[in-house]
Amino acid sequence: MLFHYQRCHRRAFLDIYGDPSQQDPPSDYLLKLRQDSTDHRHEVLQDFQPIHRPPFNPGDWAAGAKATRDLMAQGVETIHRAVLVMPSPVAEVQFVSQPDLLIKQPGWSCWGDWTYAPIDIKLGKKPKLDYQVVATYHAYVLSRVQGVWPEHSYLALRDGQRYPIDLGRLVLKLQDTLNHCLQDLRSPQTPELFISHSRCDLCHWFGHCYGEAKAQRHLSLLPGVTPARYEFLRQHHITTVATLAQTSPAYLAPLPGFGEPVAEKLVHQAQALMDNRAIPRTDSQSPHGFPLWPEDLPEAEIELFFDIESAPDQNLIYLHGVLVVNRLTGEETFHALLAESHAEERRAWKDFLDLVHAYPDSPVYHFCPYEAQTVRKLGQRYGTHNRHIDTLLSRFFDIHKCVTDGVTLPIESYALKHIARWMGFDWRDEGANGAQSICWYNAWAETGDRTYLDAILRYNEDDCRATYHVREWLANFAEPHWERLYTANGAP
Ligand code: SF4
Repeated sequence: MLFHYQRCHRRAFLDIYGDPSQQDPPSDYLLKLRQDSTDHRHEVLQDFQPIHRPPFNPGDWAAGAKATRDLMAQGVETIHRAVLVMPSPVAEVQFVSQPDLLIKQPGWSCWGDWTYAPIDIKLGKKPKLDYQVVATYHAYVLSRVQGVWPEHSYLALRDGQRYPIDLGRLVLKLQDTLNHCLQDLRSPQTPELFISHSRCDLCHWFGHCYGEAKAQRHLSLLPGVTPARYEFLRQHHITTVATLAQTSPAYLAPLPGFGEPVAEKLVHQAQALMDNRAIPRTDSQSPHGFPLWPEDLPEAEIELFFDIESAPDQNLIYLHGVLVVNRLTGEETFHALLAESHAEERRAWKDFLDLVHAYPDSPVYHFCPYEAQTVRKLGQRYGTHNRHIDTLLSRFFDIHKCVTDGVTLPIESYALKHIARWMGFDWRDEGANGAQSICWYNAWAETGDRTYLDAILRYNEDDCRATYHVREWLANFAEPHWERLYTANGAP
């Protein structure tokens, strides 16, 4: 609960008081993450055999706490899923901690010449602050049970390292978080929602919160409205899309974290949503007042639209999808350069290089920097000469950057799905996305069922076609601005 509270106060509140029937079922991707987490936990636990587990019925914390104390008093080496309990400052609330492991350490405690230190096992690669605060909490509750603070609390992360927590540094932060948590969770008021895709996408209350946000036209649905900016907007009584749309960017620009470009973008964003229309961005430095130039969206006889699928947890790039569009003949050909296993990654990379070298004068359109970064990474992995990679990357054009630089759209996110859908493009498979593609690839590896591969190829091809669709829409949108430029320069 403490972990979720740090990410979203509302999540912790709904987990206690919300109606469970309103929770979303777990996605395949979430199930995969849970399974990965269980596998990682089992792997780490192998290093701590034999392990003692306090016997108690689920939910009977008092019995669990007693069984844990008995094991600690016996001085067993390792306790898995110990139950540690202490009173909180609020009479009817107890603090309960269940670290993954307690390990015996030298030192003095109420048990004798030994103490225990907690270890939490996390799938993450980095010791994120919210993990560290929870690990500090385990040490805090443990200190009340054994009468002495452990020297450290630890995180066992994915890289196999045991990360020691600086308890002295984090204890004040923990106290502050616990005090707020107690206060918020005892209030009758549900904390206000704030949709932030980075933290909401895997939350089981997303459908519930998103429905509410849509009904309210909540400002957090506007790209660029971060929690910090939202707070400033609220302080200035700007709490609806309509009010923001009528606000002058000059009024917002001096606020901390805003500035002129952000202020203009936010007001345009609200106006675009109110009127359901695209608004060109302005660039006072440019002679046509518009930030995009024809060179940003080059047109060629043959153009390539490129999208990669990867499994970052396996460090594997398993698909280079390339749509080849011939503007003269109108022909569109999709190439799926697929690695059916880890062993085929090199061959798929070579096939990709052969394909793009077959069209040396063609621009390669992609969406976001990931494709360019991955090409650079694969070049290093397989010893492709830097010169070849530099030449290839000089032909890359990031459509996402062109969209965000050039236009404000009435959408909630500048992800490819949102942009292309608003521009009229539809994916054949509604539920397909990058995370689902990773699940399909794992399912293919486990079962050998090619229908999973077919689903990945269909999704990847649609992403390439969506990139093409966005490029065409953007070029049409920019045309009147470029016309002015051509007319001023006497060009056709
Ligand atoms: S969906 Fe988002 S706002 Fe709602 S509870 Fe989950 S994290 Fe919080």
